[in-house]
Amino acid sequence: MLRVPGETMRELSSTAFGDIAHLLRPAHLAQLRKILDDPEASDNDRFVAMELLKNANIAAGRILPGCQDTGTAIVMGKRGHLVLTDGMTMNTCQNTGNNLPAQVDVLGTKGGGSANKTFLYQQTKALLNTGSLEAFLEEKIKTIGTSACPPYHLAIVIGEGDPTGRAFRDLDWEKHILEMTRNLGIGAQFGGKYFCHDVRVVRLPRHGASCPVGIGVSCSADRQVKGKITKDGVFIEQLETDVSQYLPEVTDDHLEDESSATDVVKVDLNSMSMDELRKTLSSYPVRTRLSLTGTIVVARDIAHAKMLDKIESGEGLPQYAKDNIIYYAGPAKTPDGYASGSFGPTTAGRMDAYVDKFMANGGSFVTLAKGNRSRQVTNACKKYGGFYLGSIELNKNVEVLDNEEDGMEAIWKIDVEDFPAFIVVDDKGDDFFKEWLG
Ligand code: SF4
Repeated sequence: MLRVPGETMRELSSTAFGDIAHLLRPAHLAQLRKILDDPEASDNDRFVAMELLKNANIAAGRILPGCQDTGTAIVMGKRGHLVLTDGMTMNTCQNTGNNLPAQVDVLGTKGGGSANKTFLYQQTKALLNTGSLEAFLEEKIKTIGTSACPPYHLAIVIGEGDPTGRAFRDLDWEKHILEMTRNLGIGAQFGGKYFCHDVRVVRLPRHGASCPVGIGVSCSADRQVKGKITKDGVFIEQLETDVSQYLPEVTDDHLEDESSATDVVKVDLNSMSMDELRKTLSSYPVRTRLSLTGTIVVARDIAHAKMLDKIESGEGLPQYAKDNIIYYAGPAKTPDGYASGSFGPTTAGRMDAYVDKFMANGGSFVTLAKGNRSRQVTNACKKYGGFYLGSIELNKNVEVLDNEEDGMEAIWKIDVEDFPAFIVVDDKGDDFFKEWLG
C-alpha cells in the first residue's frame, strides 16, 4: 500500500504547470525543425515554424511563457488500487462540498484555441464507409481553420472498433488523414503543407444506434507533461530546456539573405495616415508578407463591447480606433523589468460581429490577429475598403490607452518594430482562406 500526501500531488502539479508554461517536448520541437528542412514546405510554413522555434527559445528562459493564452487547466490523474491519498480510505465516503465528480481530470494547460476546437459529432453507422468517412472528416477538419495556431497535433476518435470491444490506433487512417491535411493547402497558418504535425486515430466500440466521432487538436503551445508517483519517488517528464539546438545555424549568407529579402513589404505606420496605409495595402494581393514598424492599438473582447456602447450612445468611436491598426490581443502578466508580458494575437473570429459597424463609423479599417474570419468581415472590407492581417507574434513599448480598469482587456498602445504580418483579407473581397473554408 502506498500513501501519497496531498502536498506531494500539489507539488507535482505546481512543477508541471511551471514547466509547461515555458518548455515543450523534444519531439514537438523536432517536428518544427523538420518543417524547416523539408523542401516541400512552403515559405510560409517555414516562416511560421521558425517564429515558433524562436518563441520557444525565448520561453525556455523561464521568464516569459510560451503563449499568453493560458487556456484550460487539465490534470488527468489515475490512481492504482493500492494507492491511498489524504483524507480517504477504501471505507470512507466524503462529500467534496463542491460538486466535484468522482473522476477528477486535472495534467496541463491547454490553449483556449485547442479547447474551442474540440468537437463531438453524433453520427450513425451510415458514416462508416471509406467515401463518407473521408468526406465527413475533410469537411470537419477544414472547419478547425487556423485560429488554434497550427501546425496541430490532430486527434480523431471514431466509435467503431474491434469486435472484442478493445480500443486501437488505426494506423492506416492516421497516414491517410495526415496526407489529406497536407493537401488541404492551408499549411501552418498562411498556406502550405504543414496544417498538422501528426494525426492520431483511435477506434472505440459504439452503441448499435450511434456512432460518435470526436475531433480535437493540440495547438502550437503543446503544453503536456506526464508525472508519476511510485514507491520509489515522484517523477516528472523531462521537457526540452535547450531549444537552440533545433534552430538552424545562422551564417553570414543567411543574414545577407534576410536583409535583402525582397518579398517582404516594409510598412512605416507612423509616417502615414490610415487612408495612406489602406492605399499602400491595396496595391498588394492577399498572402503578401508585411513587416510593420510603428504604433498599433490593442483591443479585444471587452474593449470592443465598450466601443460598441459608445457608438450606440451617440458618442462614436474613439479617435485611436480610427487612426490605427487594431490588434486583437492581450498581454500575460508582466515580469519585473519587462515592458509587458507575453503578447500575442487572439482569435479574430470573436470580433467579427463588430467589424461592419465599426467600419461604417469610420474605424477599425485594418485589423490584426490570428485565424480565419467570416464572410461578414470579407464583405465589410470590400464595402468600406478595409483589411485583415494575420500574425503570430510581437513588440517594444506598451502603455495603457483606455479602460485601465479592465486589466489585460484594457486598450493598449504598443510600438512594434519589424512586426511580421500577412494580408489575409483585402479591400477587393479576397480572403486568403476562402478556397479552403468556403
Ligand atoms: S498557441 Fe494559439 S491556440 Fe494555443 S494557447 Fe496560444 S494562442 Fe491559444
